Amino acid sequence: MIDFSFTEEQQLFRESVKDWLSKNLTLEQVRENDTKHQIPKSFMKGLGDLGLLCLTLPEEHGGAGADWITATIGAEELGYADISVASPVFYLVQASWGFVVDKYAQEAVRDACLRKAARGESFIGIGATEPGGGSDVAGFKTMIKNNDKGYLLNGEKCYISGTAEATEINGGYFVSGYTDRAKGHKGMSALFMPINAPGVEITKRFDNMGRMAISTGGFKMTDVQLPKEYLLGEEGRGFYYTMEGFDAARVMVSASCIGAASRAMELGMDYIKQRQVFGQPIAKFQGVQFDLADMAAHHEAIKSLVYRTAWMLDQKYKHGTFDSLEVSKYLGMCKYLAPHHALDVFRRVLLWMGAYGYTKECPLEMGLRGVMSYCIGAEGAANVQKVIISREVLGREWRA
Ligand SMILES: Cc1cc2nc3c(=O)[nH]c(=O)nc-3n(C[C@H](O)[C@H](O)[C@H](O)COP(=O)(O)OP(=O)(O)OC[C@H]3O[C@@H](n4cnc5c(N)ncnc54)[C@H](O)[C@@H]3O)c2cc1C
Repeated sequence: MIDFSFTEEQQLFRESVKDWLSKNLTLEQVRENDTKHQIPKSFMKGLGDLGLLCLTLPEEHGGAGADWITATIGAEELGYADISVASPVFYLVQASWGFVVDKYAQEAVRDACLRKAARGESFIGIGATEPGGGSDVAGFKTMIKNNDKGYLLNGEKCYISGTAEATEINGGYFVSGYTDRAKGHKGMSALFMPINAPGVEITKRFDNMGRMAISTGGFKMTDVQLPKEYLLGEEGRGFYYTMEGFDAARVMVSASCIGAASRAMELGMDYIKQRQVFGQPIAKFQGVQFDLADMAAHHEAIKSLVYRTAWMLDQKYKHGTFDSLEVSKYLGMCKYLAPHHALDVFRRVLLWMGAYGYTKECPLEMGLRGVMSYCIGAEGAANVQKVIISREVLGREWRA
């Protein structure tokens, strides 16, 4: 049986999130956040009060016990409201990495960060990428030494979302590194690391081209001593937990891009219906209609893929129905297609708007700058998604 409908609960969730966001995150507010390079704390608190932060965590750990389809709906709606895709970062990083941290955490980590993060009073992020690169996780240089007090961290991370905000509200990161380099990727371990732990130094805030309302920074770890309770899961499993986090985040990123692209198409349609050229609305020209038809067809196809993949993730976690690598293949497809589709939509709709589209009076340029970040990286570069897809389609023995 194939049933493509959302449950009544999921529909109600979408309506309530949409309604709240329409009042609390207008496009004027998004422009203000983009210009001031910050998201108001009251907005984050509001997301927490609504139960939207860390919503995939079990209720007893401060979350809402939401399934992945519901979490994906939230990501889509946030992308729709905030086309700069800055505020969706707070939501999606915590829904995905918060989930993985919680899954492998001891109670000390939940008390130190997760429960507060779910209320919008702290932040849990992902600190994977290093100055030497982000794609090659097994090539990370961070070292984690097991000692009698717990774990000692040395290394550096960069291009990390939310470092300034996390510092302000005592947040922390999922950090992976080597406890035993000789074992290759099986010698990697993962820890929860509070950003304000002694020995952590914020190295910089990058002056990015988009997603201006949330910081992207770097941090250096020099003899950062963490208690043994901050180890996530088992030693030597850090590489696999990192992949699990990337997987969860990829569906959320893709949904945010779909939401932003939906809004861009809506704004574009409003514009072409009223803008008169050569004595008629632009919408009457078939060249423009074909452009829209092309975007709309791709949009529906990719959106269906995103929700099908969220469903697969639910099946995997609830019933073990799908093999992790099979789900990773679909997640790679989503993360490869959705950001590029969104970028294409912003580019085309912006062109419909002529000179107005090129100004900051028009909101679309924020989206163009924002979704570009997801074409570059942030939860994995496009070529890395292609590596995953081709590996699973062709067979592992054909890996490049
Ligand atoms: C706005 C923003 C926010 C970010 N936030 C975070 C965060 O919160 N936490 C975090 O850990 N990281 C974050 N990142 C980093 C992001 O995850 C990395 O950019 C990404 O993993 C790619 O790493 P890299 O930039 O070092 O590129 P590299 O790994 O150096 O790759 C460079 C290029 O080589 C290509 N490439 C890599 N491997 C292959 C291959 N096998 N075959 C063919 N081509 C290949 C890539 O596609 C890319 O085009 C963020 C990035 C951005 C832009």
